[in-house]
Amino acid sequence: MDYGLLNGTFEHPLDFPQHLCKKCGKCCRAICTPYSYEELVELSKQGQEEARVFVEMFKRYNSVEEARAAVPDQVENIINSLKKNNPDLDESKLTFYYCPNLREDNFCTIYQTRPDCCRRVPHNGWSLLAPDCGFKGWQFQQREKVKASVRKLKEYLAELELLSDNDVLPDKNKTVKEMRNLIQEKIKPWEKYGAAYW
Ligand code: SF4
Ligand code: SF4
Repeated sequence: MDYGLLNGTFEHPLDFPQHLCKKCGKCCRAICTPYSYEELVELSKQGQEEARVFVEMFKRYNSVEEARAAVPDQVENIINSLKKNNPDLDESKLTFYYCPNLREDNFCTIYQTRPDCCRRVPHNGWSLLAPDCGFKGWQFQQREKVKASVRKLKEYLAELELLSDNDVLPDKNKTVKEMRNLIQEKIKPWEKYGAAYW
């Protein structure tokens, strides 16, 4: 499948359309993670490389209000998104970060050696983008590609229903049961985005 779309992630190919970035800098100036700062420090101590890089590189805002003053729409965007899953969210408990490697003119000063967490943005078609981010149209296309791929897999699953579990698929060198499990595993990461209804 294209670009590993069916792994639940998106591996950027060399022709990733970086030119779509409007260089507004919002995604580098307002960052929030599912982990608290303390949890990230702990993960870093345990040897988790991504946590170490994150803690070492990004700077904390002193408060949500400070972050909001810096990047109002992106902070609102993130908080609203988190509240969809957790309406009782106490936003004062959130930690927002900014990257010190971003210049005033929104130029990334370490672009060639930026960490993986930056290279993987947008993570997939459902990643939360900043308002007016230049990747919105591209992201829509990625979503549609994943949906089309998942639909194809479901069609194949339906065809497998006509066979017995232990039948061998000669072109795959797998039994029907093994193939079915494999396909279900590929679909699984997309269930949280609604794959059951595609
Ligand atoms: S928010 Fe989007 S357009 Fe703005 S800098 Fe980030 S990737 Fe580029
Ligand atoms: S390293 Fe570059 S791309 Fe990554 S957050 Fe900092 S300025 Fe943005």
